Amino acid sequence: MQEMLLQPIGVVHSPVADPQEMPVGGVPADVEVYAPYAEGLRAIETNTHLQIIAWMDRADRTVLLGGEPPRGVFGLRSPARPNPLGLTPARLLAVEGRMLRLDRLDLVDATPVIDIKRYSPGWDCIFSARTSREMRFPASAGSRDVMSDMLVEAVNFHGEECAGLAMGIRAMWHAMQTWQVGRKDSVLRLWLSSDGCIADALQALSGATLGSGRLKVPGGRVFRIARDREGLVFYPLDIGEMTADEVLDAPLEQLFTIRQETLLEEKPIAQAKPGTEDLDMLVEAVRRSLVNNKLPCAVAYRLADELGVHVSEVGHAADASGVKISFCQLGCFK
Ligand SMILES: [Zn+2]
Repeated sequence: MQEMLLQPIGVVHSPVADPQEMPVGGVPADVEVYAPYAEGLRAIETNTHLQIIAWMDRADRTVLLGGEPPRGVFGLRSPARPNPLGLTPARLLAVEGRMLRLDRLDLVDATPVIDIKRYSPGWDCIFSARTSREMRFPASAGSRDVMSDMLVEAVNFHGEECAGLAMGIRAMWHAMQTWQVGRKDSVLRLWLSSDGCIADALQALSGATLGSGRLKVPGGRVFRIARDREGLVFYPLDIGEMTADEVLDAPLEQLFTIRQETLLEEKPIAQAKPGTEDLDMLVEAVRRSLVNNKLPCAVAYRLADELGVHVSEVGHAADASGVKISFCQLGCFK
């Protein structure tokens, strides 16, 4: 077979040397790029995140199956595989000479680095992607491990670690435990509150989007997670100055008042036609809100919210007055 020759271009400096002791999501670490490759670092600081490609030199190269039930390594991320390449995205905190300071790496000390590329959110971040890992309930994992793992995912989406994010994680984990369901399972639906940090956590963890119909944003103080007709309503309590870690470890009763509810059947959209009087009022509201003779769909949603009607009723009023609702990528109006 053809052989390929790789030269390490650098090395990982990490406080963790034993792979068994590496926490989920890694630890702050540095990558030292060797002198002959220093020119390849020019302008690297213009990127916030990098992909570190490493050679996991202690991995077993004879392995083709892993996990339980066993699956092929080419559909997994385990280090054991014929060519043990590690691929880890990390935030670039600083560049000091040939040293790259990174927020977290799950590669142990002295791991050879064979390449570095920029992380391009437009290409590399596929929010709609799914793996079996998030689709099933993590029955065998410990609560804290699951939540630490979710914290990494939520921080990637939100941009920083904060207590609100941890509140969203606690709520999602409670819902997952209640229904023994994976967090990205399409049976879960969410109604978000006005707290942007909690909302970001719930969206990141569930993978729900406005276009998928699984996510609604009524605002307010309370948020809901539902499965079929069963709902969990979360009233966030005042948590003072708690840190994200303190929130993850606190008793649930200290964070929320939680109520179970049964959801009502939603009004099918086709039936949500306004009556004649409402229609006049809605047509008037639509005319007032036109932008360049079109009704942007975000404005249609705001109108529906303000007037307390279903958004499709605003759509009917727009149709009635011959107004086009401008194109929306979320597929609100089809
Ligand atoms: Zn936040």
